[in-house]
Amino acid sequence: MTDPHVNYETQDGIAVMTVSNPPLNALGPGIREGIVEGIARAQADPMVAAIVLIGEGRNFIAGADIRQFGKPRTVTSARSTAALESSAKPIVAAIDGYALGGGLEHALACHYRIATARAKVGLPEVKIGIIPGGGGTQRLPRLIGPQAAMEIIVSGRHVLADEAQKLGIIDQLVDESDLRSAAINFAKGIAAKRPLPLVRDRTELLADAKQRPDMFNAMRKSIDRKARNQKAPYHAIAAVEAAVSESFEDGLKAERALFAELENSDQAKALRYAFFAEREVTKIPGSSPDLRPAKVSSVAIIGAGTMGGGIAMSFAEHGMPVKLLEISKEALDKGLQRVRDTYAASVRRGSIAQDEVERRLALIHPVRSYDDIGDSDVVIEAVFERMDVKKDVFTKLDAALKPGATLLTNSSAIDIDVMAQVTKRPQDVAGAHFFAPANVMKLCEVVRGTKTSLETIARAMKLAKDIGKISAVAGSCDGFAANRSRAPFITEMMLMLEEGALPEQIDKVMVDFGYPLGPFAVNDISGLDISYDTRKRRAAADPNYRKLHVPDRLVEMGRKGQKTGAGWYRYERGDRTPHPDDAVKNVIAEVAQEFNIQKRTLSDEEILRRLLLASVNEACKILAEAKAYRASDIDVMWLHGFGFPRYRGGLMFWADTIGAKEICRQIEEWHKRYGRRWKPSSLLQEIAQSGGQLRDAKAKLL
Ligand code: NAD
Repeated sequence: MTDPHVNYETQDGIAVMTVSNPPLNALGPGIREGIVEGIARAQADPMVAAIVLIGEGRNFIAGADIRQFGKPRTVTSARSTAALESSAKPIVAAIDGYALGGGLEHALACHYRIATARAKVGLPEVKIGIIPGGGGTQRLPRLIGPQAAMEIIVSGRHVLADEAQKLGIIDQLVDESDLRSAAINFAKGIAAKRPLPLVRDRTELLADAKQRPDMFNAMRKSIDRKARNQKAPYHAIAAVEAAVSESFEDGLKAERALFAELENSDQAKALRYAFFAEREVTKIPGSSPDLRPAKVSSVAIIGAGTMGGGIAMSFAEHGMPVKLLEISKEALDKGLQRVRDTYAASVRRGSIAQDEVERRLALIHPVRSYDDIGDSDVVIEAVFERMDVKKDVFTKLDAALKPGATLLTNSSAIDIDVMAQVTKRPQDVAGAHFFAPANVMKLCEVVRGTKTSLETIARAMKLAKDIGKISAVAGSCDGFAANRSRAPFITEMMLMLEEGALPEQIDKVMVDFGYPLGPFAVNDISGLDISYDTRKRRAAADPNYRKLHVPDRLVEMGRKGQKTGAGWYRYERGDRTPHPDDAVKNVIAEVAQEFNIQKRTLSDEEILRRLLLASVNEACKILAEAKAYRASDIDVMWLHGFGFPRYRGGLMFWADTIGAKEICRQIEEWHKRYGRRWKPSSLLQEIAQSGGQLRDAKAKLL
């Protein structure tokens, strides 16, 4: 691979500058410099009448190189875009594939923009906690109007070529078979045209916005719920506001100042970390770079319940056919009906069209016997969480499936080896643990049994990726890595009630922290009864098990959550708004009295720490036992399985903002007060002593 550079050549009086940093042509070191140099060269060459800026391969420029943020750059985008804009010869941006972030900003500084039908443009900087810093917030509003620009910048969404043309971002769509020739022809056509059209000079769309200064506050209000606590979306609005109220030069200064405030902010660092954690999580330690999982053409799912149906929908959404096998025709019909009902609700909400539903339903094929799935490349089992049923299904799968097929289980907790051992192919058995609702949640925890091969892990991960999921590998243990790391959080949230906290107080702390919903409100949605059964089983198996009396009593009173109209909160008919309920307060008081627990006031800080530090400690134990590869993998699990606020990086990244030493001190204190459930992890103690960072922790021996 050669270093990133901009290739310069001339053809028929047109200079063609080709950005070369495959595959995405990110604005890596050398690219901005190359653009500035190329423009100077073209100005100096009397034979050149116009210039084309194009990307090598199938992308224009997919954005800045994220590794460059927070580090000094020799040539900034401000300089290279200014160079494009001040060229005395017209410049045509020729866009194929992605023109995102800095890529689109460079295109906006060109005089013309042409694109293929598969081009996608956008300014997604808010997604990494910053705003466009190369004039994007000033040029886009001039080109398409402040309202449309603001919507694109604040959402960070990709705009497809068609829409981009309608909005006026793209001047012309061209045949994608030979973009370079089309661009050269286009450049020849406009070479003599003067004056050169400059986006910066366009003010007609700003005039209207000047009459409607309230549009910016309206935008702020409209994002308040989703963008709560986050700086970048609000800075983006302020930058567009500056485009309307200031001159172009002053607007650029305002953009630069807002950008500079964000570039090294904690939120931007957390979001960059999350971005890299999601890349790292795909790497399997010990596997060779040549490990290419065998192609998957046919998939079957066993069990069409809550999870099986949701998983089938994920396949259908990605255009992959899937077979569905159930225990009986009735169960199958019921499962398919649930899938149809879910789609119908989406159609009513307007999030999917009816013909798309038909297309997806046609991809889900009900089958009646194991003979019908024998030639599947992959099977995902999602039957009842019962050891005997799982064993029975895996015995049948082993008998029916062709050699080399991959057998995956969606079990939440049963040891993968239990299933693997009943087959003659334990190397082909792994967990593929999806999260409910499976058609929505992105996490797929791929669980490695003792004998699971790396090929099987790689195949499961690739398959998850193909259906839009993000997978993280866990070792087989009770709860695997994701749920196991979250279990102590749940325990603490219940036990803090006995000490004097209320569900609404705990929920508020976590919503203020950044979760979309508090943990009790979430529990009311998923149902209190699910964990009730698990707790009963645990209590029966372990005499030292610390019972959670409050939720147990609520379930026994019939308060199972929203489905019964009451759980941790009370609900009005047909309304999902949670209302605090004295009945819950009474149960809490009753339990506290019965067990002689002194009521006290818990501060918000204590609540946050109790919940998250309990999980940090467990995450360290998981890493010490090599049940997850890296701390950052656990962060990915929390981001995509549990709705942890992304702008806080993840559980372990957040923990570093407190520091391992302080965490250790705190946990040791609680260990003395509360006993064994707070036993500090030895890995945590080591990290605290060495002064290292929790986010860098990796499993040994893997
Ligand atoms: P469910 O009860 O909704 O569905 C189970 C389905 O399996 C039923 O439709 C049942 O008829 C079918 N089934 C039972 N025995 C079968 C057999 N021998 N052959 C074919 N089909 C059979 O349960 P669920 O919530 O979908 O859970 C399924 C699996 O997913 C469990 O292992 C569970 O632990 C796991 N899981 C559940 C969740 C969740 O939140 N519900 C989350 C992650 C994982």
